[in-house]
Amino acid sequence: MSTLISQSDCLNYFENPNPDDFGESVESFLHYLQKATAIFLSGQDSSKRRAVCTLLHGNEPSGTEAVFNYLKSKQKPRFDTLFIIGSVQAACVKPFFSQRMEVGKRDLNRCFRPPYDDSQGQIAKAILDLLKQVKPECLIDIHNTSGSGPSFGVAIAEDANHIAITSLFTNDLIVTDLRLGALMEQSEQNMITVTVECGGAQDKSSQIIAHEGLHRYLSAERVMAGVDDQYPINVFHNPIRLETKNHGEVAYAKAPCAAAVITLPEQAYKFNYGMLTKDEFIGYLNEDGFAQLTAIDHLGNERLDEFFEKREGKLFSRHPIKVFMMTTNPFIAKTDCLFYFIGNS
Ligand SMILES: [Zn+2]
Repeated sequence: MSTLISQSDCLNYFENPNPDDFGESVESFLHYLQKATAIFLSGQDSSKRRAVCTLLHGNEPSGTEAVFNYLKSKQKPRFDTLFIIGSVQAACVKPFFSQRMEVGKRDLNRCFRPPYDDSQGQIAKAILDLLKQVKPECLIDIHNTSGSGPSFGVAIAEDANHIAITSLFTNDLIVTDLRLGALMEQSEQNMITVTVECGGAQDKSSQIIAHEGLHRYLSAERVMAGVDDQYPINVFHNPIRLETKNHGEVAYAKAPCAAAVITLPEQAYKFNYGMLTKDEFIGYLNEDGFAQLTAIDHLGNERLDEFFEKREGKLFSRHPIKVFMMTTNPFIAKTDCLFYFIGNS
């Protein structure tokens, strides 16, 4: 195997490492790795391979904890397995697991498409080159949501195999036509890839979902769909992102914050659970706030007025919507999006 692997300066590579070298904590493990790392583990059977990626975002620990615990347990996976641990350096900025990416660097999970000319792009390219050599039958990419919330999978294709892999972790699958340069877009290159959002980094359930799902994924004889298999998966298509225009400020507080386009409740993550009704106010808008919001769908159409309205200075949805990935981090809210939603208008 090792003769296949091209060395890359930006990606460590270990083959069947001794887990005793990792130390006793996930922090000592990251210190040992130092930078983006691939670990190849021989399975009980080398007739095929599976791949696991995690920590593309340095503030999302559940996947790394699950991989660390798996390696420390010294189990042999059913088949040869490639583990990829992405943003080790961002995760090691103290306090541990507090930074999505290092200051001034791009979001690594937006770098899996050309150009690959900066340091993050080169890490992404090294990961893709390695995956091309290893040729796993499938790839999972484990994340945490940026606010507390339930787990779900994300994929760019809705076929039986993507659904089957999702079912090892969770019951909800979002299928998106949006292309951002995320690792899961490798499904376009015929590498079946599912992003697993385990729930918030602080949620106890996220650790359990990552740990148990990883164990199922690595021990199963078969993870792809069987001919007559049925999976209890709810599929949601093309969530829309609610954003502020020009990275307008977002606040989280009890009372309206004048400097912010919109002020959401401090517990806005509660919108991630169940359906959001049209009677539940989402946040306080400042005077021009509604006009400073935008909700563009994957086809490039503005859908804000169709799904939302301003009533007495507050933002409401016009119809019941399902909210995903509501953050309570003002920086993520203004630079990425407030949340994703799906609804029938
Ligand atoms: Zn993530």
